[in-house]
Amino acid sequence: MEPLYIPQLANRPDRTLEIVVDRLIPEFATLTPIRGKIIVKHGGTFLEVSAQTETIVTLTCDRCLQQYNHRLMLDTQEIIWLEAESTEPERRGVEVKNELEDLVDSLPPDGHFPPDVWLYEQLSLSLPLRQLCNLDCVGIEPLEIAPAPEPVEVAQLDSRWGILENLKQKLENN
Ligand SMILES: [Zn+2]
Repeated sequence: MEPLYIPQLANRPDRTLEIVVDRLIPEFATLTPIRGKIIVKHGGTFLEVSAQTETIVTLTCDRCLQQYNHRLMLDTQEIIWLEAESTEPERRGVEVKNELEDLVDSLPPDGHFPPDVWLYEQLSLSLPLRQLCNLDCVGIEPLEIAPAPEPVEVAQLDSRWGILENLKQKLENN
């Protein structure tokens, strides 16, 4: 994906370019090609970039250290301001509260937008913080000491018998 010359985007129909993605990114290891699309729209003072892509990555479980495959779905949108460096501090004051959830970037209005780099960043950000092969993964150590579940007789009785059983236990305890 070649970097896009930003002024050219403004001359396109609807000021929009749709890029079909079906490729591997060398810096971002995936099991299958990254498939989907990136839409770049020139909004005058900003670019509105959105992406929907899908791929499969191999991750290492935080608990048991086994590798597992994870379907990585990306569905994101970002505003990239088109401005010269000098206006940056003014904007910072307004944007600072969004900083964590939205890594706002800016580009010069006559610069280039690199879809590859942007997609790489978005994919990296979308990796799960907590990587688990399975929500119930118990990890390495507990597996060895996990006791076999004991058969519970009461569970096999129906609820009426359960009530009797409780009563009986209460009487016995008294
Ligand atoms: Zn695991």
